[in-house]
Amino acid sequence: MKFQKSPGTQDILPGAVERWQYVEGKARDICRRFNFREIRTPLFESTELFQRGVGETTDIVEKEMYTFIDRGERSLTLRPEGTAGVVRSYVENKLFGDPDVSKLYYIGPMFRYERAQAGRYRQFHQFGIEAIGAVDPALDAEVIALGYTFYTEVGLKGVRVEINSVGTPAVRAAFRERLLEFLNPKRELLCKDCQSRMDRNPLRVLDCKVDQAHFEGAPSILDSLDEECSAHFEKVKQCLTDMGIPYEINHRLVRGLDYYTHTAFEYKAEGIGAIDTVGGGGRYNGLVSDIGGPEQPGVGLGLGLERTILLLEHQQTELPNLHEIDVYIVALGEAADREATRLVYQLRMQGVRAERDYQGRKMKAQLKSADRLGARFTAILGDDELERGEIALKDMAKGEQRMVAISALAAELQA
Ligand code: ATP
Ligand code: MG
Repeated sequence: MKFQKSPGTQDILPGAVERWQYVEGKARDICRRFNFREIRTPLFESTELFQRGVGETTDIVEKEMYTFIDRGERSLTLRPEGTAGVVRSYVENKLFGDPDVSKLYYIGPMFRYERAQAGRYRQFHQFGIEAIGAVDPALDAEVIALGYTFYTEVGLKGVRVEINSVGTPAVRAAFRERLLEFLNPKRELLCKDCQSRMDRNPLRVLDCKVDQAHFEGAPSILDSLDEECSAHFEKVKQCLTDMGIPYEINHRLVRGLDYYTHTAFEYKAEGIGAIDTVGGGGRYNGLVSDIGGPEQPGVGLGLGLERTILLLEHQQTELPNLHEIDVYIVALGEAADREATRLVYQLRMQGVRAERDYQGRKMKAQLKSADRLGARFTAILGDDELERGEIALKDMAKGEQRMVAISALAAELQA
């Protein structure tokens, strides 16, 4: 019997996982600076939460959810995105009682039944943030800026920010009529999904991946915005300009999720096959009340970590080697081997990243091992050196070797 991982899932092995740790570390560090705090919610929730919170006419709910009935006959779904669970938790735990805006972030796996390809998986990871409790456009801009800062600080080049306003439900209802006037004559040219969306949620047609060529000359929702929506959008743009965040306006950007109001945005980059979106988000003033909470506005984003890492690889971005060890202790002889056990443990307790041989190998093989591990130093311990209480310390970059007292090794390495 041979087992293989399920389609659309990935093993992240040592060697690759350091990139993940680096990227996740950056996300946490940036969140700390922007005063977002981590929230951890369950990997599965009631199916109804996503049906309501994500929207019945979205790709996610229509065809991508991992839904199952548990032994207690509840319908549960592996979370396909992070916002619904965070908002559910915000309501359930009454975080709205906090006089300050709730600024939350999460990092973790999401599940969608999709056709797997580069940058598209069935289990993937998102870094997301949610800011709930204020309508201030400065908060929309802060969320957009945080995502942009993340891409910049992990070292990606050429990530563009596209923004749009999808208005309020009333604005969308008016726009919907104008859009249908434009779409109706083209109905037969559009894909089956779009034809069905035209009847149920025409705005989502603009989000279609296959029909973009037919949308040349489509009306712009920006021309349908009322005064309040325009003012909000203007202020978001102004805040971005004030912070020096570059952006472009894309009036066709609608995002897949139904709960967005006002601001919608995406981060785009070239380099992952046909995929050009690496993350996105928007404002969702209706979501908290939609899932049974009080009227509380929110804004958030979700960034795909696989796509971030694929781009880092594509751009051959140099990342710091997080795994590199400080010293490899080469032990020769029985007494030295025994001392190595004590010494390596001692060094580790003093904060030094230390490694040794476990296979009784010859000096040459041990040195090769030190090389593979990227050891900054090797320290060679033979029975003679041991008797003198010394060890031969070699700086691998400089190629210099000198004798140091075993008792002073940790201090030497830390200097
Ligand atoms: P797409 O248009 O590529 O299907 P989406 O609109 O479904 O994306 P969102 O729900 O907005 O994506 O999720 C935010 C981000 O999460 C995406 O920009 C992407 O980086 C990542 N993402 C979404 N689905 C997947 C997936 N199946 N595999 C890997 N990453 C994904
Ligand atoms: Mg999708």
